[in-house]
Amino acid sequence: MNERYWGVDLGGTKIEAVITDSNMRQLIRRRIPTAADSGYERILRRIVGLLEGLSEETGCPLPPRIGIGTPGRYEEASCSMSNSNTRCLNGRDLKGDLEYLLRRETVIANDANCFVLAESLLGAGRDVMREGDGRTAFGMIIGTGVGGGIVSGGRVLTGAHGIAGEWGHNVLIPDGEPCYCGKRGCVETVISGPALEGYYRSLTGFSKSLREIAALVSEDTAAEATIRRLTVYFGAALSAVLNILDPHCCIIGGGVGNIDTLYSEKTRGIIEGGLFSKKLMVPLLKPRFGDSAGVLGAALLAAGLET
Ligand SMILES: [Zn+2]
Repeated sequence: MNERYWGVDLGGTKIEAVITDSNMRQLIRRRIPTAADSGYERILRRIVGLLEGLSEETGCPLPPRIGIGTPGRYEEASCSMSNSNTRCLNGRDLKGDLEYLLRRETVIANDANCFVLAESLLGAGRDVMREGDGRTAFGMIIGTGVGGGIVSGGRVLTGAHGIAGEWGHNVLIPDGEPCYCGKRGCVETVISGPALEGYYRSLTGFSKSLREIAALVSEDTAAEATIRRLTVYFGAALSAVLNILDPHCCIIGGGVGNIDTLYSEKTRGIIEGGLFSKKLMVPLLKPRFGDSAGVLGAALLAAGLET
């Protein structure tokens, strides 16, 4: 089998592309800056240039189908992107325009869906998912924003309207801080990295990264309060998801997912407090691929393991 799968991860700061073999082993991976400020057409040209460069470097012709992962949602009905934090993509036909320029089919999915696809099928959740057919994984990205995705039976579950797994905009604190989505007190406004750093700043007047705050827990009561806020609200938000989805594993990605307290017995106890089943039997897993999960998930889309 000489099958090759090509994936692209289009992020706000970098565009990454990968070619894998038929066993999803990475053969080559390249990364360039997105240059998001220079506009939509320029981003398209950069993606095409990156793929053509890979083709030249490897001697592999562009394949018939290329997977693309990106923040936001591509709506098939209107042929346009929405909810992307790379704002110049919104309202544009990213799929159609890339297909026109590349003369190839593209498969587009949300970056959180690509993350959970790669981590559940190839990475952290691989063993759990292989123990039975039709198993379900819930993947979270908790970083600058809070996103999520669901894989069930080896495929991404997008839902009837493309929002399945978007737990970051469930309301966690009624009348809480305003969110860019128009509501107040969304999960994202409480447990995202910037939200927690803002909370620490409101207590102390000092700006510190979440990593620095987590390192100060034993000597700084404001740091301790910030991490307690994270675990209490993370537990409440996640237990609501688990009561609906009841997945076989959860994978916690993004910068906030690196905070070890999230995997502690204490946090598991908080989650159990909101669970209908009382006992948390779901493994909470750290991702295996770091920030390359997105591009591997995109390659999986090209391999046909999508919705
Ligand atoms: Zn929101």
